[in-house]
Amino acid sequence: MLMPEKETRKKLWELLASIIEDYADGVARAPIAPDTNPAEIREMLRSVDFTSPLDPSEALTWAADKLWKYQVHTPHPGYFGLFNPAPTTMGIAADALAAAFNPQLASWSHSPFAVEAERHLVRLFGERFGYEKTDGTFTSGGAEANFTALLTALARAFPGYLRKGLKGIDADPVFYVSPESHHSFSKAAQMAGLGREAAREVALDEKFRLDPESLKRVVREDRDRGLSPFLAVATAGTTSAGIIDPIPDIAEIADEERMWLHVDAAWGGAAALVPELRSALDGIELADSITLDAHKWLSAPMGAGLYLTRHEDILGKTFGTSTAYMPKKSADSIDPYSHSVQWSRRFIGLKVLLSLCAAGWDGYASTIRHMMSMGENVRANLRKNGWKIVNETPLPVVCFSDVKDGGEKDSARLESIAAAVVKRGKSWISFTKLAGRIPVLRACVTNYRTGPDDLATLAGELNAAREQQSERL
Ligand SMILES: *Cc1c(COP(=O)(O)O)cnc(C)c1O
Repeated sequence: MLMPEKETRKKLWELLASIIEDYADGVARAPIAPDTNPAEIREMLRSVDFTSPLDPSEALTWAADKLWKYQVHTPHPGYFGLFNPAPTTMGIAADALAAAFNPQLASWSHSPFAVEAERHLVRLFGERFGYEKTDGTFTSGGAEANFTALLTALARAFPGYLRKGLKGIDADPVFYVSPESHHSFSKAAQMAGLGREAAREVALDEKFRLDPESLKRVVREDRDRGLSPFLAVATAGTTSAGIIDPIPDIAEIADEERMWLHVDAAWGGAAALVPELRSALDGIELADSITLDAHKWLSAPMGAGLYLTRHEDILGKTFGTSTAYMPKKSADSIDPYSHSVQWSRRFIGLKVLLSLCAAGWDGYASTIRHMMSMGENVRANLRKNGWKIVNETPLPVVCFSDVKDGGEKDSARLESIAAAVVKRGKSWISFTKLAGRIPVLRACVTNYRTGPDDLATLAGELNAAREQQSERL
């Protein structure tokens, strides 16, 4: 039952390929966001009770139809949203291949090619960031990579933590993030047993960057209070505004204060693939560890994160374990389960490997350049239409408010402009607040297929939504 006849399978694969192609061809004409509600979808699912088997092709068609209807189409070129990509074609193929061969990436001996291919990628990405030696692990995404960073930093600073947890160390560990850093650090602090308050927020400067002077001051004050600073986090490309913290200054303080430096480059790290952008990440080579999400700017299908470190011993120290039931490893290999939060694991690296095989570093560089230039055009269009750009970043994410109607401070108004744009279904943008208080609209070029026509549509949609709001007032 779990494997239909050959003829049925052949039909199924052909259907799958045509569904994938139809989606790639047609997504640009679909309304980007669904107009639905939980009750509608639950009602639709009620009849799916598995009492009588469906024909496989029929089931596949049904699922594809529901995905068409009920999701925000992040692969739509008018999606100027969070860092969700249109997936690479090779990434889609790789995910199918990984599912079919189903390599087990817990141990080297079960999947030597897959494990070594991931190690190879880890080394190459480490080199891109300026590491001489690199260890690392693929993760489900940035949140797991950041959690891994927290755990490795703890293991380095407090070896006793690994065996006895917090009660095994005579210290009250705290670490430093900016208010614009990703909230996965707050969860990580909780999961590590430190509690959310161990993530200490440092002040921002006027450009929404972590302020090094404030970091220095807070670390000193915390030490005086008997706390034990062990980690500083710099973000290279914040989620809201694409801000790059001053990494060299933070690195210097981390060094003086004997703290681990983690750079969360989940999205912005892809800039390392473009020579003329690399200087935006200056200092990242000094980081003890780095988060990079391949499922963001590198357009791998979700989830594909990377944790990289220049300390070759630390993952083994943090996650090392051995059991009788796992296959024995050879002397010069590493079993991923002893270097990762995960145990049984999917071949995450394959979608990155095959995407890179087909595009090459140069292909990626030119794709990123294209998206950078689209970002510049978004900025130019907005200025021309009387919007005010609020953030300063080389990366293609634009935060803006409305000067025309003096509505800069008007949170509700901006929010309803974003909602109106989304509702019209041609472009997708969002609303956020910078530094927790400054309301802005946010448009991010996150799709390699986004082109000049999509920018023109966005400009028109924004103006129309603004008019609509003004009429209401
Ligand atoms: C997206 C993001 C994360 C979280 O990554 P996931 O892949 O969503 O788990 C962490 N940090 C930054 C800066 C991000 O942009």
